[in-house]
Amino acid sequence: MPADHNRNAPMSLIAEIPALGRDTMVVVRQREPRFAVLLYAALSAAFFLYALPTAGLFWTLFAVVLGIATMPVVEFVVHKYVLHILVLAKTPATAQFWDRVHYAHHMEPKDPTVILAHPASTVLLVGVIGTIAWAIGIQPAPMVGIAFALFAFYEVVHFACHMDYDFESHYFRMRRQAHAIHHYVDENRNFGITSSVADRLLGTIVGDKKELKRSPTVRNLGYTGAFADRYPYLKRPDAPTEDSSTTKSPQ
Ligand SMILES: [Zn+2]
Ligand SMILES: [Zn+2]
Repeated sequence: MPADHNRNAPMSLIAEIPALGRDTMVVVRQREPRFAVLLYAALSAAFFLYALPTAGLFWTLFAVVLGIATMPVVEFVVHKYVLHILVLAKTPATAQFWDRVHYAHHMEPKDPTVILAHPASTVLLVGVIGTIAWAIGIQPAPMVGIAFALFAFYEVVHFACHMDYDFESHYFRMRRQAHAIHHYVDENRNFGITSSVADRLLGTIVGDKKELKRSPTVRNLGYTGAFADRYPYLKRPDAPTEDSSTTKSPQ
């Protein structure tokens, strides 16, 4: 284990980079993320190896810069406007989808089997990104390469956020602290997983932590009370009942 020091103080870049590498290895050695992260890393490498001689250096660098620059907003938009949409609970099929992609994760944040996206859904989503790139005239192969690399990074950071482990790097510790607020205090704050850039830009960052009050729907995302009675597809026998008086309006 790392030497004891002020755990929240930023580290020098020289100490932070190897610490990030060691923390990443700790995550990748876990049973649940291992397959997905190695699969995305291998697919990313394969697409970059194909892209460099076919699409060329310019399009490869363009895709890398575009992917990294847009990642904070993509993460935020998908998390806030797709994964937190209560209307998905209204039909059995969409409820099952919502349960797998996010509802179960908020209900049981410590369950390692529902932290990561299913690899099939990631491959499908990356395929959609490649198709959109092709449709608007951007070389698709390097876009697919960077998308798989960023997905691997996202899954490592998100899984780390839910591990009971004393990470060395300042970055991993800060991301875990931010994500804990999303899961245990207020589900409408800190939508960003790998960074807080979009939360800062769009006003959902936590400012003064003392002002935060626990949201009654932080676990069930509003799926409770009369709404859950009307659409009972996700009802659990042990679901929390504390928030039945503050049910969000159904969409
Ligand atoms: Zn999470
Ligand atoms: Zn969430």
